Amino acid sequence: MATVAVVGAGVTGLVTAIGCARAGHRVRVLERGPVPNPASTSSDQHRALRVLRPDDVDGTARMAEARRWWAELESLLRKDFVRPVGVVTAGTPDELERAFDTAAQAGVPATAVVPGTLPPVLFPDGTSGVFDPGGAVLLADRFLRAAVGWLAAHPAVTLHPDCPVAGIGDHQVVLADGAVVGADAVLVAGGPWTAGLTGPPVVLHRQTMVYLRPPPHLAAWWASAPGVGRIGADGRAWLLPPGGGALLKISSDAVCREVTTTNPDPDRDREPWAGRLLAEPILAGAEDYAVVAVRDCHYATDAVTGGPVLARIHPSVWSRSACGGSGFGAAPLVAREILGGVNDKECV
Ligand SMILES: Cc1cc2nc3c(=O)[nH]c(=O)nc-3n(C[C@H](O)[C@H](O)[C@H](O)COP(=O)(O)OP(=O)(O)OC[C@H]3O[C@@H](n4cnc5c(N)ncnc54)[C@H](O)[C@@H]3O)c2cc1C
Repeated sequence: MATVAVVGAGVTGLVTAIGCARAGHRVRVLERGPVPNPASTSSDQHRALRVLRPDDVDGTARMAEARRWWAELESLLRKDFVRPVGVVTAGTPDELERAFDTAAQAGVPATAVVPGTLPPVLFPDGTSGVFDPGGAVLLADRFLRAAVGWLAAHPAVTLHPDCPVAGIGDHQVVLADGAVVGADAVLVAGGPWTAGLTGPPVVLHRQTMVYLRPPPHLAAWWASAPGVGRIGADGRAWLLPPGGGALLKISSDAVCREVTTTNPDPDRDREPWAGRLLAEPILAGAEDYAVVAVRDCHYATDAVTGGPVLARIHPSVWSRSACGGSGFGAAPLVAREILGGVNDKECV
């Protein structure tokens, strides 16, 4: 049995803690705020899990594996938090041909969708869609609560809320009060704040999201609607459907900007971006949808590749300094890698 210290109780930390506890290891989760923390990146009504990654066969195969883990987590935690509604990606005929090719090579299903079958959604001119039936909407907050409940009841797991971490070394975590926690393996999963504790360097992004309530006459249609991506004026917008207690959410990379801090000034920063997002051609009859909330959220990308990164910064320490925009769905893949290292006793 190894002792694993996990810094951060977002999706990455919690999924890894569950994997390690199930494998028979002792786990300590160190979180600077409450557990789960509503200020974590993971805390939201929903997140998309896309299996099909057009033009990325390996990435598609990896996400198919992550999807299987999510199904397993759902049965382990005995809570419904995966809405298997699928995800549609819009594209030109060329892009769709490549998407089908990726799906075939990765061995995952995909079917064609014509825009007319999703009348409330506006597709960019000249595009139609590819439906990824393995894609899903993850009810993020519901998962976080279920995971914390399971971990809190596990005899080999200790949750440490209100426990800020100030430093990391090989086989050790230094708490803000100076105490040192020893561990055979450490995962630093502090979301966009990880880079403050460990490398490698990241670029911080702030994105604005708008939550909408559909008009009553469309409620039944939206109840089984899929997520839709690559829509909006320049194909950079996406929507997540309402359902399971969540609202309809829209966002776009067009309202994503590089920032240097996770402390925005909402009065100055948020409104113009929300206005820009609401002006995007995403929904037919957009004026019938009630704006319920606007929120900013941060994520980090690797300063060199622009993507996610899981770095081994000491023999015993992994750092998830950059999660990218798909870090929620991909969390089981991080857990698998950490668990592999711990089980191989490479770090113990
Ligand atoms: C707008 C937006 C939309 C997104 N959409 C999707 C999507 O549709 N699908 C998808 O898969 N992904 C999506 N993502 C990405 C995904 O949400 C994140 O990659 C993921 O939630 C990160 O989880 P995490 O556990 O690594 O970090 P977090 O959830 O941020 O958790 C980190 C935790 O560490 C704690 N912490 C930080 N520093 C310390 C410290 N020093 N000591 C102790 N604790 C500390 C924090 O308090 C926090 O609770 C989106 C991100 C954004 C911003």
